[in-house]
Amino acid sequence: MALIVQKFGGTSVGDVKRIHYVADKISKTYAEGHQLVIVVSAMSGETDRLFSLAQQFSQTPDPREIDVLLSTGEQVSIALLSLALIERGCPAKSYTGAQVHIRTDDVHNKARILSIDGQKIRHDLSQGKVIVVAGFQGMDSFGNITTLGRGGSDTTAVALAAALKADECQIYTDVEGVYTADPRIVPEAKRMTRITFEEMLELSSLGAKVMQIRAVEIAGKYNVPIRVLSTFQEGSGTLIAAEEEDLSKSSVSGMAINRDEAKLVIQNIPEAISGISQILGCISNAHVEVDMILRSFHEDGKTDLAFTVHRRDFQKTLSLLNQVVTEIGAKKIFSNDKVAKLSLVGMGIRSEPRVTGKMLEILAKEQINILLMSTSEIKVSVIIDEKDLERGARAVHQAFELGSEVPTELMQGI
Ligand code: ADP
Ligand code: ASP
Ligand code: MG
Repeated sequence: MALIVQKFGGTSVGDVKRIHYVADKISKTYAEGHQLVIVVSAMSGETDRLFSLAQQFSQTPDPREIDVLLSTGEQVSIALLSLALIERGCPAKSYTGAQVHIRTDDVHNKARILSIDGQKIRHDLSQGKVIVVAGFQGMDSFGNITTLGRGGSDTTAVALAAALKADECQIYTDVEGVYTADPRIVPEAKRMTRITFEEMLELSSLGAKVMQIRAVEIAGKYNVPIRVLSTFQEGSGTLIAAEEEDLSKSSVSGMAINRDEAKLVIQNIPEAISGISQILGCISNAHVEVDMILRSFHEDGKTDLAFTVHRRDFQKTLSLLNQVVTEIGAKKIFSNDKVAKLSLVGMGIRSEPRVTGKMLEILAKEQINILLMSTSEIKVSVIIDEKDLERGARAVHQAFELGSEVPTELMQGI
């Protein structure tokens, strides 16, 4: 008998038929004698629908009320799935995040889990219950409902697995595992059988939304191996685990793609040190995160500054810059909110400096202009025009031989 945490994402519980399907799957595992803690997301599209409802009342909705609103999506799913399980003779019991004491900090919409008191869950498990927990939510120390950021149900599942010392943490989704690139953009992408926490952390932070980044952080910190699997296709999925000696030594493991980028350039900053700190200071005061950043020098001593932000923060950043540029006496702002980030990730990049050069060569051959670039020990990222993204992604994927001969079968409904 094993204690297994299973998480089912939004598509997996997207309609009544799929909830029945998931309930059948869970009942079978329960019948095999395992203890089960199930985490579910809101039905697909529901979180977006709720958010757009809020926007009909305010363009800058109050973050606390947004959490109260968005958390209801998951509450619907846990109740429906539990009803389906009970009908199958599987003694399910649903709980919201707060009810199972998922304590978070008080940063609404992006809260971090601080602790989980697993006592209630352990007690219910010992009574033979199947526990169904609402993903993506918790409660701060003042009793307010908080949410964990988009994709946060992954984090609920991994944190529960760590707190309960589960034997397995399975993330069920709408693809058959973690691929060498998003299979919806690069159809030749290949499922990886195994990937390290470190590589997955990079892929998630660079835009591969198959796992939320905080989930991978917790998994790495508490050494919780995760298996990413398809809800609807049988298979062994992808194991995300600590590095092993005999792991494949290929330098590049996968590619991440992120369309949510916008680029801004400020030209001719006269006093570089004070100018740059004023620009970055006013952006961070407005809680906008700067991603890639590049400073370049002119012969006359002036400086240009280029950086990227999330596309949703583009207009806000642009209007902030319009004010600052006049104050610091810089000349011009160039902006482009139709850029995308293409990244290669792999443990071997640290010992294989040619990866960067090869990536640049391939993009040059495709006549794709590189707008910004950054590298770290295990990744290389470039910013390119969004219109070039799919072409560039496929060319780089092919040149690094990340693909398979057999195109991935994507889940087309059940
Ligand atoms: P869920 O609703 O189950 O949480 P998500 O939509 O959050 O599912 O994540 C699954 C999606 O992640 C896939 O449908 C796929 O398009 C996308 N994705 C992006 N990069 C990758 C990758 N490297 N491997 C697999 N899926 C990826
Ligand atoms: N429902 C939330 C979202 O759509 C959380 C999740 O699905 O993991 O982002
Ligand atoms: Mg997700």
